[in-house]
Amino acid sequence: MRVVVVGAGVYGAAVGAALVRRGAEVTVVDGGMPGSGTSGATFSWVNSRNKQPLVYHDLNLAGMAAHQRLAAEVPLGDWYHGGGGIEWTADEEGLSTKVDALLARGYEAKLLTRAEALDLEPGLVPDRLPADGIAYYPGEAWVEPTRLIAHLLSRGADVVADDAVVGLDVSGDVVRAVRLESGQVLAADAVVNCAGPQAAEVAAMAGLALPMRNLPCVLVHTTSVAVPVSRVVHAPDVHLRPERGGRIMLHSGEVDQGGQGAVEKLVRDAASVYPAIRAAESVHTGQRPIPGDGLPVLGRATDVRNYFFAVSHSGVTLCLHAGELVAGEVLGDDRDEALAPFRFERFEVWR
Ligand SMILES: Cc1cc2nc3c(=O)[nH]c(=O)nc-3n(C[C@H](O)[C@H](O)[C@H](O)COP(=O)(O)OP(=O)(O)OC[C@H]3O[C@@H](n4cnc5c(N)ncnc54)[C@H](O)[C@@H]3O)c2cc1C
Repeated sequence: MRVVVVGAGVYGAAVGAALVRRGAEVTVVDGGMPGSGTSGATFSWVNSRNKQPLVYHDLNLAGMAAHQRLAAEVPLGDWYHGGGGIEWTADEEGLSTKVDALLARGYEAKLLTRAEALDLEPGLVPDRLPADGIAYYPGEAWVEPTRLIAHLLSRGADVVADDAVVGLDVSGDVVRAVRLESGQVLAADAVVNCAGPQAAEVAAMAGLALPMRNLPCVLVHTTSVAVPVSRVVHAPDVHLRPERGGRIMLHSGEVDQGGQGAVEKLVRDAASVYPAIRAAESVHTGQRPIPGDGLPVLGRATDVRNYFFAVSHSGVTLCLHAGELVAGEVLGDDRDEALAPFRFERFEVWR
């Protein structure tokens, strides 16, 4: 079976690798370089901490487990960084309620004292932490998406870079071929739309109207600093995690809004918890790919029966697990019940 996957971000790479493993002949096509889309500018925190409704939480939980399995299978694959996540807020009671709710959903979570939190993150300024009531989520992680993409694309898919998909040949309810900007035409028995923020444009090529409400985002990399940040940390005004080369990646809801001085304020907020942080080295902007109702779009489109979707926010967390489910469906597994809440057809009522 010849499958063309449109997009070489985390989703395209994961779907492609899962299809190859099941015996398909796969071509992953990207208009740029693999990992040059959202997956190249993401916080890439693997978690299910704030995911609603329950089916979406469970999908993310399965995504976390899939990352742990892959990391264990490829011991030298150094893209996966466990160690969990830490969070504290001014609303201690609210955080404690959240931890209880997560525990009830089977999520690993506990409350730490300040001393316990400092054992994990000794670089934090002690008096910025409450005396207790600091949440710790041991199963969380962060990944280096480009390294993950490189691994997944090395599993046997053909990769066509710098050549955008510009059209699909559709006859009746079947896609027959994929047309590239260069003029190349790829015959296809199935097509998977993994185009992230551009998923609506690629859906329109098959006559399908996919509502998207992408959101612009800002991430800041600090200069290289000798500070022991070992995991994802959510302080009240700043979220941060380690980044390659001794840098720290910073984010906040506020910096996404932009505005003058927002980056400088974010760096100051980070320095108030880790004083060695001094300056921003680079600022990265990206687009969160968000389907119209916020939930993933996964699996077969019934109106075009060999056309499939793998599009969502939280794609770093979800890509391996969701990629397996979508690949199974492409290769003829029964429509998986796990995908029922995430099907494209739910948007019929939006028209
Ligand atoms: C600031 C920020 C923080 C985030 N934080 C997290 C987080 O902590 N945890 C998490 O799980 N998720 C997070 N996300 C979301 C996550 O990064 C995305 O869901 C994920 O990267 C999407 O991957 P993708 O493969 O779908 O899209 P992309 O990585 O954008 O890949 C799509 C690819 O398709 C290609 N393409 C588009 N159109 C065409 C075409 N016509 N022809 C050929 N190729 C085409 C593009 O060039 C691109 O390379 C965050 C996102 C942002 C922006």
